[in-house]
Formats: sequence, C-alpha cells, structure tokens
Amino acid sequence: MKISFYILWFFLYFFFFASGQDKYERDRQQMVDRQIEARGITNKATLSAMRKVERHRLVPKEQVKNAYQDRPLPIGHGQTISQPYMVAYMTEIIRPGPGMKVLEIGTGSGYQAAVLAEAVDEVYTIEIIESLGKSAEEKLNKLGYDNIYTKVADGFYGWEEHAPFDAIVVTAASEFIPPPLIEQLKEGGKMVIPVGAPFTTQHLMLVEKKKDGKWKTKNLLPVRFVPFTRN
Ligand code: SAH
Repeated sequence: MKISFYILWFFLYFFFFASGQDKYERDRQQMVDRQIEARGITNKATLSAMRKVERHRLVPKEQVKNAYQDRPLPIGHGQTISQPYMVAYMTEIIRPGPGMKVLEIGTGSGYQAAVLAEAVDEVYTIEIIESLGKSAEEKLNKLGYDNIYTKVADGFYGWEEHAPFDAIVVTAASEFIPPPLIEQLKEGGKMVIPVGAPFTTQHLMLVEKKKDGKWKTKNLLPVRFVPFTRN
C-alpha cells in the first residue's frame, strides 16, 4: 500500500515537473533548429552553447513562457534581452573558443554572458543598472557558472584589471566606440558593437584590432538595441 503510494507520487512528479522541463528542452532545441541554424549560424561552439543555456531560467518570471520565442523580451527597467538569433550572431562573430577571455558590456539578464561562458574560458560582464546586475549575478551563480565575473559600473571604461581581452561584446548601442574598449582589446582581437543614435536603426559593427595596434571596422547589419547610457 505504502509502496504504491510512492510509485504514484513518482509518476505524478514526472508528469508535472519532468514533463515541464522537457517542454523547455524541446522548445530550446527547436529554437536553435528553426531560428539559429536555419538562418545560417554554423559555428559549432555557438550552436552547442545555444542548445545548452536555459534561457527560460534567466528571463523574468512573467516572460518564462516566451523565453524561446523569436524576439527580444523585456527584462525590466526599460531594458531588453536580445532576440536569440542576435545573441547567436554576436557570439559567432567573435569566433569563440577555449582559452579566450571575453568582456561583455550590458549584462542585462545574463543570457548573453551564459552563452559566451559555455564557449570560452572566462567572461567578464559589466552592467550599469545595479538591480539588473545583481539579479543576473544571482541567477548565474544558481546555474553554476563559475567562469563569469560580474560588476556594476559604467562599461564605457571597460575592466582595466583584466584587460586585454580576446573579444569584447557590447549589447547596448553607443554613438561612438568607447576608446577604453579599443585599448582593452588584445591585438588580433575582435569587438562587436551596435553603433548609432538611441531609438533609431543602428549598425552592428565588427572592430578588429590588428597586430600593429591599428584597428579596422566592418559594418555588419542594421540593428536596434537599447541605448548605451552613462552615469
Ligand atoms: N546582454 C544582455 C542584453 C541586455 S540589454 C542580455 O543578454 O540580457 C543592454 C544592457 O546594457 C541593459 O541592461 C543596460 O542597462 C546595459 N547598459 C547600458 N549602458 C551601459 C553602460 N554604460 N555600462 C554597462 N551596461 C550598460
């Protein structure tokens, strides 16, 4: 009698809890198949990171059901988490791999940082809005990311103590490329950054620092990001 009671609980648990988890897993794999791979992302490290990171555990409660949809989502304080494809695109463009140290400006939900952390050795991420930075830090710790270092500050100045970085990913649109970020990029390193005025269409730019310290930029695609703000 007692045993069958436990068996019943076991099945109920699976039905309600485990099947719910499966649904997120299915949605996530489908997101990568239909939104990411189907649109031409081929970098293996990026694809496997996108298949792994539990986006639904990084968005606010009320957005959990929308976590794997093909669009940006509000994360509070007027900020947004980028559309999954944009996260994949920006990850692929820096050619992530083992041994790399990456700086992200604009932690937001922590999702882009988690994707990077699956594909490189160390991620340093800076957020200007304290409550967003703290909440992302907590969630990332809970998910077990011990290679992500967070800080609440104005990302304009980068993170000098840990420079130079193999790559820098900026997730807020700036009217110009902050000079400290170019300085903190390793020679041979890549930075991806949306450039343009707030609330207009901006350009996603790739900045490559050459071995002689000079840098060149390439215009990648038109985008819309939340503005890069200053304290
Ligand atoms: N990468 C985030 C996207 C968040 S949107 C994610 O995956 O969820 C961009 C974020 O940049 C916002 O949270 C905004 O507060 C932050 N931001 C804007 N200007 C900043 C600055 N000067 N320094 C650091 N973060 C900044």
